[in-house]
This record gives sequence, structure tokens and C-alpha cells, in this order.
Amino acid sequence: MLDLKQDVQYIKGVGPNNLVLLKKLGINTLEDLITFFPRNYEDRSKPKKINELIDGEEALIDVVCASNMSETRFARNKVMLKMLVRDDTGDCVLTWFNQTYLKNKFKVGERYQFYGKVNIKYGRIEMSKPVYDKEGLSKNTGKIIPIYPLTYNLSQNKLRSIIENGLKLTLGKLEETIPEYILNKYNLEEINKATRQIHFPDNFTEYNKARRRLVFEELLTVQLALSSLKSRYDKERDGIEYDKSVKMSDVINSLPFKLTKAQLKVLEEIDKDMESNKPMNRLLQGDVGSGKTIVSIIAAYKAAKCGYQAAIMAPTAILAEQHIKNFNNVLEKFGIKCELLLGGMRAKKRVEVLEKLKNGEIDILVGTHALLVEDVEFKNLGLVVTDEQHRFGVRQRASIANKGANPDVLVMTATPIPRTLALILYGDLDISIIDELPPNRKKIETYPVTKNYERRIEEFIRANVQKGRQAYVVCPLVEESEEYDNCKSAVELTEEYKDKIFPELKVECLHGKMKQKEKDEIMEKFKNGEIQVLVSTTVIEVGVDVPNANIMVVQNAEHFGLAQLHQLRGRVGRGEYQSYCILIYDGNSKNTKERMKTMKETDNGFIVAEKDLELRGSGEFFGTRQHGLPEFKIANLFEDVSILKEVQDLVIKIEEIDPRLEKEENSKLRKLVEEKFEDRINI
Ligand code: ADP
Ligand code: MG
Repeated sequence: MLDLKQDVQYIKGVGPNNLVLLKKLGINTLEDLITFFPRNYEDRSKPKKINELIDGEEALIDVVCASNMSETRFARNKVMLKMLVRDDTGDCVLTWFNQTYLKNKFKVGERYQFYGKVNIKYGRIEMSKPVYDKEGLSKNTGKIIPIYPLTYNLSQNKLRSIIENGLKLTLGKLEETIPEYILNKYNLEEINKATRQIHFPDNFTEYNKARRRLVFEELLTVQLALSSLKSRYDKERDGIEYDKSVKMSDVINSLPFKLTKAQLKVLEEIDKDMESNKPMNRLLQGDVGSGKTIVSIIAAYKAAKCGYQAAIMAPTAILAEQHIKNFNNVLEKFGIKCELLLGGMRAKKRVEVLEKLKNGEIDILVGTHALLVEDVEFKNLGLVVTDEQHRFGVRQRASIANKGANPDVLVMTATPIPRTLALILYGDLDISIIDELPPNRKKIETYPVTKNYERRIEEFIRANVQKGRQAYVVCPLVEESEEYDNCKSAVELTEEYKDKIFPELKVECLHGKMKQKEKDEIMEKFKNGEIQVLVSTTVIEVGVDVPNANIMVVQNAEHFGLAQLHQLRGRVGRGEYQSYCILIYDGNSKNTKERMKTMKETDNGFIVAEKDLELRGSGEFFGTRQHGLPEFKIANLFEDVSILKEVQDLVIKIEEIDPRLEKEENSKLRKLVEEKFEDRINI
């Protein structure tokens, strides 16, 4: 019997030193080893012409030997070997150090393949330390070689051979994890072959088949786990039944504005959840400025009037402060008591708040993560609202909900995500959408421009500031980086603005490496108008409201995802002034241009999000992590949308036919999901 849980130390080739390194990589068992997937592949199968070689790349060439080996001795015992090779497009010099055994390996006029790193200096093309095969052979070339993620001190070669040994043990013995009817229907590779081919693909067709299967399995497992979590909420727990006689319309009628149709529809859904005895677990998605806060205020009103407490959790102190003002504005007149709880509060004040919370004098508590602390105790928590910037995992969400007895939970997100993604990120929740902005919003004018416009933009900022407005300028980087030498950094640009460009204006810098307290201070000053131009990184993405700011400039806009640009754009257009979003981009790739065009033409966050998914390659952009996408072993939510859709269709069918996975044909699926729960993988 194959034991996948056996310790990796028993695999051939693993010594005590390697063992430590493997454990660092999170590889403890044979199973971990064979599911440690390559991050990339070196294609040593397709030769390039010499005149196509690019400096710095690793490449394969198919050439004829054009000279004997020359030998240069230097220092002590050091030998440099050089040989000229040629194809019909040019010459290349191959170099080796000290590998004198190669001296008589090659014959002038014969054909070989070489694979190595290309160096081009002053038009001279060289390849250093290439591996080789004689024409017709493929020992070191002619195949696809896996490259594994960061391996500390473990060499790629060593890891490759350990994995190869692990695969030999399992070959043909891995038990299929997906039911046969699904394998057939979706044309998925069998598990043994897929596992072999993902590490050592025979060719890219086989690789694609293997990857498709493994991605499918991973997404299917998560999607099924979420679906079963959702049905557990529905069936296994009794929630609060809020009193039908407490009417949300009492607050709605007291507001100085009319709610939009979308807001009303969403409130109806929430009201229904609150009045039913099943605990609400609802995601509220709505574009920036679509008016989610008021929805949460009205829900909290209902909870408070029914005798329960509500907790509102925001990602930053500034936002929490903004919320408490809004809550008080609307609810004070109803005699509802709202309080603020922040991390940095004075101890005396904090004790006082906690005391009042415990004895029920506070109806609604607004705050940050400080709400999660253990000694924060409610008298009877009935509603939890999280206004999330970063996605909390299922477990964190549960940790605040546990402060009450099955309270209703409302999760708000300002990142409009396409339905497909929402289902895998929030598949355990019901979804409500506000897909309409309040009327009379001035449309933000968006201008994508190239770098040549920089001086004009500076003048535009100056002119607006002179009229009393404020501006944001966002850079992709905090500090200069060699890796992205064409990118503006926030620190650098701030200096330039202060010294040369806007010496007469108040310019400050805000970025993620600053302490929270410093950030809050700067934001406070910007809110109060004491700063006129705020240079920052994407930290200002978080939903701060400064109605007086009317310009958003994004430097190196090509490095941001569309959804992120849309979030940034949402920082302006919050007041009575015409607002502008200026996207300065570099380079003229077709993709960049199309993305800029989308931003100019579209102001609907959901359409932007769909486009983002369509136009985004993986790893191209900064700040992908800020989407809070969970990490998968092999799937990539951006690249694998089509597989994700297939998986979701399948899960919907399974939910209809066999929601508890009780049928024999689905027993394998039940096992997959159970293992997922056992692992407590953070979904
Ligand atoms: P977000 O959904 O981004 O959190 P907010 O809740 O902060 O948006 O709302 C943005 C602004 O719009 C607030 O000043 C709020 O008072 C206002 N607002 C909300 N709903 C309406 C409405 N139906 N009509 C007019 N203004 C509204
Ligand atoms: Mg908000």
C-alpha cells in the first residue's frame, strides 16, 4: 500500500541537510513532495536562431561546430575553453571554465544542440557553460525541465531528483480522487499521469492536460467545501428572528435623500434574512460611493430597535471614525447609542466602553480589528457588519460572530468582483449587489496620457489647488527599485514636488511602510485641508472620503490592475466639484492601451472588473495581493476563469442532485471535502 503521509526523510536522495531545507519549504510528507508544483518550466525543446537570442536569457541553439576548442590558461589551474559555433543566421562563442574534459568532445562541421545562458556584449554573442547533446540525442536538451519556486539552498537539480524519486514510488499507485463520471464528462487526465506530467512534461500538450486536471481538482475542492459550509449554516444553526414590527422604513423616511432602487432591493433582502430564523450570511457588493454605509446603518437600526447589539468593523481607524459620525447623524435621533472602539484608545476610556458594552448601554459598537480582542464582550450581539478592504477568511469572520449567539453577518466589499470570482471567494455567503450609484453624481472625467504630459498635469494640479481643491498622486512603488527602473516611487516624487515642482504648496507622502499612527496623522491633515497634494502608494485605496479632493493622478498606470485603478478613481468625485482621474502610462503594448481605453470609457465597477479578468495576465501587476485572493497550490484565479466556470456549473448541478454528497458516485467528492475541512485550510 502506498502511504502518501510517510515522512519525506525516507525518500531516496533526502539526507539530513536536505531534510531541513525541505521542511522549510513546507514539504513534510511524500504527498507534500509530489504536490510541490513547478513554478515555471525551462523549454529546452525548441531551438532558437542565433540572431534571435536575447541578452540574459537561457536558450537552446541548433548549430554546427565552426572551430576547434581554444584554451586560455590564467591564474593558477584556471582554464577557459572557447569554441565558435554557427547557424545560418550568425556566430556564437561558447565558453566553459575548467571543464577540460570537453576539449575533444566536438568535431568541426558536426551538428549539436547547446542550452545555456546568453551574454551579448558589444554585438558579440556568447553562451556560457552550455549543456549539450549531439545531433539526434536528447539527454540534456530537447525536453522541458521544471523550475520549482524559491528553494532556499536546495539546488533545482537536487530538488528535481528528489521529486523524481518520490514520483517513482507513487507511479501508478495514486488513488483517483475525482469520480469517473466527472473525469469523462470534463475530459480530465487521470491522476497518476497528471502528477507525472506536471513535473516532467513530455511536451506542452501533455503539460496543459495535466495542469487542467490539477487546477480543476483544486478549484472543485474549494468550491464544494464552500457550498457545504453554506448548507451547514442554513441547516444546522438557529439564528435570531427579528421583530417584524420594527420597520426599516422609519429610518429610510428620516433621511435627507431618497435611497436608490438598488439600495432598497438590498435592504429588502437583508430585512428578510433578519426576520427569518436562519442566520444571515450575506455579502453586500457595491461600487465605491454606491452607498453601502447607509444600508448597514439601517440594518443596525433594526437590530438595535429589536433589543440586540450590532458590531461594525472597518479596516482602518480613519474609516471607523468616518462611520461613527454617519451612524450618529442618522441614529442619534432614534435614541440609539453608538460608540467607537479603536486600538490606540486610552485605557480608562476603553474600560468604560467595554463596561457599557457588557451591560448593554451601548447599542452599536463601531471600530477596527480592536473589536476582535478577547475582552470585548457584548451583552447580546445580534448583527455583525464587516466593511472589508482585505478579505477576511471564513475563520476570522467566524471569530467576531462567536461573540454572539449565531448573530446575523453582513460582509460589505467595495471591490466589485465578477460573479465567478465572488462565488469562489465568498461561496459560503449569499450575495446582494448594489449596481447603481445615487443620482446627481458628476461623472469623473478620465484621461489616459503618456509621460510627455507630465508638465501639463502639474500645471493642472496647481490651477486646481489655487481654486482650493486637493489632489492625490499615486505611485506604484514606495522607494526606488532597480527591478522597475522606469517606475516612479512615492518617496522620490514627493522630494521632487517639494523641492522643484510645487515648492509653494503643501505636499506630503503616505505609504504602507509608515507606522499606522503616522498614516492616520497624514490622512487627518489631508482631510482637514492642511495638505494640498498627497503623494502616496495604493494605501489610499481604502474608502476614505475627502470631498474636496478632485484630482487623482496615477503614475505608471500600466502597472495596476483595472479593478485597482477603478478603486483609486473612486477616491475623487465625492463632493460637488468636477473631478478628474489622470492615468499616466508608459509603453505601448496593445493590452495596456486597451486597458486605458476601458478606464476612459467605463465607470461601472462591475464592467471594469469583468474586463480586468479578461485582460489581466498573471503576475504583471503590483498589488495583486491586495485583491486578497486566496493562495492556491496550482490554480490562478485570473488565468483559470474558464475552468472555474466549468467547476461552478458542476457544483451547482451537484448541489441540486446530491447536496450532502451521499450518493455512491460522489463518495470520492465527499472525501475531498472532508479532507479539506480536516486540514482546516483557510478558505
Ligand atoms: P460606499 O458604498 O463606497 O461605502 P458611502 O456609503 O460612503 O459609499 O456613500 C457615499 C456617499 O453617498 C455618502 O456621503 C452617502 O451619504 C451618500 N449617499 C448614500 N446613498 C445615497 C442616496 N441614495 N442618495 C444620495 N446620496 C447617497
Ligand atoms: Mg464604504
